[in-house]
Amino acid sequence: MGGRAISSPNTLSSCNAIGRFAPSPTGPLHAGSLLAALGSFLNARAQGGLWHLRIDDIDPPRAVKGSVGAIQMSLETHGFQFDGDIQYQSAHTDRYEQALKALDELGDLFHCGCTRAMLGANGSCQNDCANKSFTTTEPTSIRVKVPQNTVIILNDSVLGGQNWHLGQQLSDFVVRRRDGLYAYQLAAAVDDASPLTTQVVRGRDLLDSTPRQVFLQRRLALSSPEYGHLPVIKDQYGAKLSKQQGAAALDNSHPAQNLRAALRALGQPSPPSGLKDSESVLEWSRSRWDPLRVPR
Ligand code: GLU
Repeated sequence: MGGRAISSPNTLSSCNAIGRFAPSPTGPLHAGSLLAALGSFLNARAQGGLWHLRIDDIDPPRAVKGSVGAIQMSLETHGFQFDGDIQYQSAHTDRYEQALKALDELGDLFHCGCTRAMLGANGSCQNDCANKSFTTTEPTSIRVKVPQNTVIILNDSVLGGQNWHLGQQLSDFVVRRRDGLYAYQLAAAVDDASPLTTQVVRGRDLLDSTPRQVFLQRRLALSSPEYGHLPVIKDQYGAKLSKQQGAAALDNSHPAQNLRAALRALGQPSPPSGLKDSESVLEWSRSRWDPLRVPR
């Protein structure tokens, strides 16, 4: 029997594309986060894939109470339906611990006693901590060594070919912080690895994190997802909108209008003016999504 293609968001597609939106719970969504939500959503759904909501809550000192509820409410108001339950990085600490153990077994890790003020311009250890020993009571971060000849090459779905001489830019970076918390680079590398995630679409402010995350995935023998980096929205002073800097929260009373503005910023076609609700705007845009139209 000939069946009609169904684009149910809850059906695992044959292509198994899995995208995600991964806000930190540091405040309500703003116009910049809407761009990341929309780009990652359309990129996954255009391929009939799944789209997860992951809350990057591994940094409790930065968490703002009530943000998760506010983020979820704002996404729902804008017509975004995510698949499965909300994922919380705080529930994944076993994964991160195992990754640290695996890196340690490869001989890739060292303790570093440097404070922020002691680090070099690119954040690397400048004090040869790799060759020092520390007592267990001294506060240290754990860093991964990046061999000098490390080159990361990948094809960004938005920006095209990217090429980083990572080993020449960074000799090491933090995977567990001095306060004992797992670093964003480690947690994102592990959670974003395929098959948990097959596509990461996010703001260009995170572009320089990508080679570090891909480096970790390769050391851990994990498959990297496809990456795509979207433009970031700047404030009147040219700084990236950020929740921590108190960027204005999205006005949830005009979701379709917000989506239209975000689609324009992503270089996508404008939905017909007759489409008034956010679900119709998203559905119309889904089949027309083209990452190559996103401004570079
Ligand atoms: N949680 C990070 C943030 O909100 C983004 C993580 C990501 O998309 O990789 O900036």
